[in-house]
Amino acid sequence: MKKVGFFRSIHLKFVIIYVLLILVAMQIIGVYFVRKLETTLMTNYQESVKSRVDLLVYDIQEELVKERGKEDPTKEEAIRQILMDYKPNDISEIRVVDGSSFKILGTSSLSNQGMVGQRTPDVKIKRSIITGEDEDVIQLKANERVWVLSTPIMHNGEAIAAVYLVANINDIFDQMNDINTILATGTAIALIFTAILGVLLAQTITRPISDMRKQALAMTRGNFSRKVKVYGYDEIGQLAITFNNLTKKLQEAQATTEGEKRKLSSVISYMTDGVISTDRKGRIILINDPALQMLGVPRETVLSQPLVSVLGLDENYTFDDLLQEKDSIVLDYSTKSKPFILRANFSVIQKESGFVNGLIAVLYDITEQEKIDMERREFVANVSHELRTPLTTMRSYLEALAEGAWRDEEIAPNFLETTRGETERMIRLVNDLLQLSKLDSVDYRLSKEWVNFPVFFNRIIDRFELTKEQNVTFKREITENAIFVEIDEDKITQVLDNIISNAMKYSPEGGKITFKVKELDDQIVASISDEGVGIPKDNLDKIFDRFYRVDKARTRKLGGTGLGLAIAREMVNAHGGKIWAESVEGKGTTVQFTLPYDRSAEDDWS
Ligand code: ADP
Repeated sequence: MKKVGFFRSIHLKFVIIYVLLILVAMQIIGVYFVRKLETTLMTNYQESVKSRVDLLVYDIQEELVKERGKEDPTKEEAIRQILMDYKPNDISEIRVVDGSSFKILGTSSLSNQGMVGQRTPDVKIKRSIITGEDEDVIQLKANERVWVLSTPIMHNGEAIAAVYLVANINDIFDQMNDINTILATGTAIALIFTAILGVLLAQTITRPISDMRKQALAMTRGNFSRKVKVYGYDEIGQLAITFNNLTKKLQEAQATTEGEKRKLSSVISYMTDGVISTDRKGRIILINDPALQMLGVPRETVLSQPLVSVLGLDENYTFDDLLQEKDSIVLDYSTKSKPFILRANFSVIQKESGFVNGLIAVLYDITEQEKIDMERREFVANVSHELRTPLTTMRSYLEALAEGAWRDEEIAPNFLETTRGETERMIRLVNDLLQLSKLDSVDYRLSKEWVNFPVFFNRIIDRFELTKEQNVTFKREITENAIFVEIDEDKITQVLDNIISNAMKYSPEGGKITFKVKELDDQIVASISDEGVGIPKDNLDKIFDRFYRVDKARTRKLGGTGLGLAIAREMVNAHGGKIWAESVEGKGTTVQFTLPYDRSAEDDWS
């Protein structure tokens, strides 16, 4: 906010109001006082002049009445004498005019003696003689203010003459001017004093107000530490107290909001789900790290970008569609090599009035879940398929038997043998499935024992060697040193059984199977190599998946369930080892697995 200049400040306004009030008051008082004084002075003066003129009138009346009717040449002389005798300072001239002829009978002015005997041109004199009443007027003569009075001299109700006088009233006006000057000076001094006083008094009001203004400015900058000084307990003082309380409350509210904001932002940043928030136009204003990772974009490039385009939805959705979207949207970002599926849920940020402020999108990585769902669906389909094949075979054979084939001594045993074989296969399949489900269960435990691995391995190979019906040779490259590992004997036996029986199954006539055990620092590697058909490179990893077979028709014929290696992998993994296969098509396959090995523990045994 701008600083308030002195000329626009409330302080100056107060002073101006003060000064104007005083000025108006002084003006009203002055005008009234001067008017009143002027009339009083004038009236007093006029009355004093009149009372003096009354004496003169009386003298002249005497003289005129005495000489009435006679043509007396001394009459003018007598009047002149009276006028000469009667000569106050403030009256510049007195004339006496005859009532019937309007001739000037005499004048006190020496320079105007020539007018005596002439008719007066003055209208006022004539009018006062005719009306028998005083006529007066204030005139300006030769820059002097004069009061001209014409008084009739009455005798027997008739105006026999008139006294005309010119009185100088400049003194009165001089006096008035002096008084006006005094009043003006007084007003000026009063104004100066009130202005100074106004400045000081206005401060008592403006200082707390300007304090509050500064405080409010500081508050907008986020500084709540200031306090307004309370100068008194009047309305402004109480305003200051309330203002301070308000500041405190605001500070607390701000602290709470900040705290909530911090909590929210830490919740958002530590969330494993992705969170994106937009403004009301759908541009991204906040995005947390998991969301950035999921979308594989840097923060700088997505901020203030439209959400729909960042999520890659701009072909099918607009921002308004997302605002209406009640269900979640599945975003499939899978590539050929890597599946990646997100689910996005949207919630609208709305004011109470219904005004949309923005949108929050929460992204969940559902790849794993989708994978599990898919595997489960696949698994069920596989199991059904695996069971249906032997069951269909059995049904058709049993049908044939029921329809009379049982009587045929040659076919019947053959059919029964096939049915038995299929039943065996189903039992094997169900057993394998049971085993897998046991391995999958949470409370699955290995019962481990310390086993001398080369001895254990040789024993299993011996068993195969004794029972083998094929023409294959076994080659052992197994150390004679004792290697003690902690394993669940049954489980690893099953792993080896599965691998070795596969090697035998896929070995050609006269093929060779090589068994090796390698001792590394912290693990042992067991490997079984054959010289069989081999496995195409692309399928090497997949052979450990459930129900996976490279050549479905052939392996089924060999009696495989497609679960052997899957079970082997689960068991090796449960031991903390790894299993993999290497193969050259047409040349042979090597299946290897590792088991953890602790040399120091072995030392204890030896
Ligand atoms: P199966 O019971 O069908 O043998 P496995 O899980 O043991 O099931 O093996 C999965 C698939 O891997 C087999 O069907 C076969 O195609 C392939 N396979 C496994 N071992 C060998 C091997 N030694 N040589 C060639 N192919 C093999």
